[in-house]
Amino acid sequence: MTGLRLTTKKDPKKLGSDQDWLNWKWQIQHRILGAEQLSEFISLTEPEFRSFSECEDLFSFSTTPYYLSLADRENHHCPIRLQFVPQIEELHSNPRDRVDPLEEESHMPVKGVTHRYPDRALWYLSHVCAVYCRFCTRKRKVSQSFNTPGMADWEEALLYFRNHPEIKEVILSGGDPLNLSDSKLDFLLTELKSIPHINQVRIHTRYPVTLPMRITSELCAVLKKHFPIFLVTHFNHSKELTALAKERISLLVKEGAVSVLNQSVLLKGVNDSVEALSDLFYSLTNAGIKPYYLHQCDEVFGSSHFRVPISEGVRLMKALRGRISGLSMPLYVVDLTGGGGKVPLPTDYLEEATQNSYVFKNFNGDLYEIGI
Ligand SMILES: *Cc1c(COP(=O)(O)O)cnc(C)c1O
Ligand code: SF4
Repeated sequence: MTGLRLTTKKDPKKLGSDQDWLNWKWQIQHRILGAEQLSEFISLTEPEFRSFSECEDLFSFSTTPYYLSLADRENHHCPIRLQFVPQIEELHSNPRDRVDPLEEESHMPVKGVTHRYPDRALWYLSHVCAVYCRFCTRKRKVSQSFNTPGMADWEEALLYFRNHPEIKEVILSGGDPLNLSDSKLDFLLTELKSIPHINQVRIHTRYPVTLPMRITSELCAVLKKHFPIFLVTHFNHSKELTALAKERISLLVKEGAVSVLNQSVLLKGVNDSVEALSDLFYSLTNAGIKPYYLHQCDEVFGSSHFRVPISEGVRLMKALRGRISGLSMPLYVVDLTGGGGKVPLPTDYLEEATQNSYVFKNFNGDLYEIGI
């Protein structure tokens, strides 16, 4: 024998009854929080094992049994596994990496509110997520149990929104805002919708991906009360669009009257190919979700092994344009390090501009000239 050991791994689905499995609180209570426990379900390499203790102080580990059940038990390159299992590369330092790449803390007039653009504000409501994504931009504070935002902070934020008539949109974010109870969400949405200058409310959540059982009829009834709600979720791979995820998205749309969009992060080894992205974008559209943004991975510490060069991202987007429906295409953007906000990345089709004409290259590589 060569030291390879064939082990029978437990099936996370056998952790509880069928009823437990569909209960989001059960999933949260039964999260897998350490290497030993994880290795009962999937095989870990020696560096993966080591990465747990060494990355522990930098960013917590957690996965729901549900999200774990999507991972391949033996394949270390599985696109689901890469998103939640710490890799030793997280310890590599890159001179460009920052603790707070988007400088959210310095655009924070009151605790939890990042007011970068004049007309919209991002509201950080919870430190908790069901699964901690290894590439998270907010790993400086997400997963930390101290200083949890509470009612006093919320009152202060609500007062800030009331006193700033230029704010037309509030984005509930975190951590995961759907970690709050239905009644707390109802309270926050009622307050926001009572502010006359607030035109629209958005929720940024990864729970449809990592904990789809959080989408219940009760939650949908709350969301429907506050119509219209725009919910932006975060699928990165078509494997994440399971039958359960699709069923609950359909519930959101039908019972909650919610408009569902998606933002993905371009991640090396997870979705950086034409096939992976076209599968993802078509699967999203098939589930009733409009692909909104594809993000360049932020320059956050410990994520350089995930980053795909912008030139490659542009190449992928150009290969997709014309090949898949425009409805299924997101906009490729980068959130500028230093807090500059998001800008679209230039998938430029203009080949030449003269005084009275433009020459464009189409998706097939053919040139066409049009007048100005
Ligand atoms: C991304 C982001 C928004 C929303 O930007 P959109 O382009 O409207 O989706 C708002 N505020 C902050 C701080 C953000 O990072
Ligand atoms: S769900 Fe969002 S906030 Fe939570 S760990 Fe993942 S990327 Fe970070």
